[in-house]
Amino acid sequence: MNNNKILSLSLLLCGSVLASEFPPAAEIAAMTDQQRHALAAKTEVWTPVPPVVTVAPASAPLAAPSDALVLLGANSADLAQWRSVNSGKAVEWSLQEGELTVKPGSGDIQTLEKFCDIQLHLEWRAPKPDPAKTGQLRNNSGIFLQDKYEIQILDSYQNPTYPNGQAGSVYKQTVPLVNAMRPDGQWQQYDIIYRAPRFEGHKRLSAGFVTVLHNGVLVQNHTEILGTTEWIGPPQQPAHGCAPLKLQDHGDQVSFRNIWVRKLD
Ligand code: MG
Repeated sequence: MNNNKILSLSLLLCGSVLASEFPPAAEIAAMTDQQRHALAAKTEVWTPVPPVVTVAPASAPLAAPSDALVLLGANSADLAQWRSVNSGKAVEWSLQEGELTVKPGSGDIQTLEKFCDIQLHLEWRAPKPDPAKTGQLRNNSGIFLQDKYEIQILDSYQNPTYPNGQAGSVYKQTVPLVNAMRPDGQWQQYDIIYRAPRFEGHKRLSAGFVTVLHNGVLVQNHTEILGTTEWIGPPQQPAHGCAPLKLQDHGDQVSFRNIWVRKLD
């Protein structure tokens, strides 16, 4: 069993213990920022730090295969496939020559279409970092599978943070196997193979699993998804059906291009 799986398993086994360490949501909402950050720190995993691997510089976008649904191409009409989560209306993020950039403060965006099992290709780019911003504050975004399970997007090039929150992590669950970041300003590539959890009524029959390649390098190898992505507290396991893909506005001008998906179910 590798470190990655040991960490996931230990978090899973500790789930009931962890749950008892966290007050109800209403109490958390009434806390100060400092108190909330102290609670959030309980699910940060700081070791092991994934080794850094060097990858070739970014090349041209990988063309979508013929059976893929293009969610973001060079055509601005592609934005019709996305909606603001806050307003349910058209997205406010900027689109220029096929590059979609977060408009900080406008909120997350999600696809109109719902997905279950998928192969997903996504390219993203962190802008030049503000030296005053480090860790989770350095160009943070994320891709949420089925609106609930975040594969972290973060400028993790020479930017230490808790490894279960760095680029390629299943956020607050599983550390990536390696750090395959290109330097900031270059396009990064994610290829994600996702098997959705199965439910019968409210009962979870099987967990979700995800495989992630970052710039062509394996960082999640058929990783079990423990439940929903939570900044504070343990993952939850609500029953659900197919659901949208979501991109996160974490207040940074992260850009995206060439997003396409193949349905596997
Ligand atoms: Mg994020």
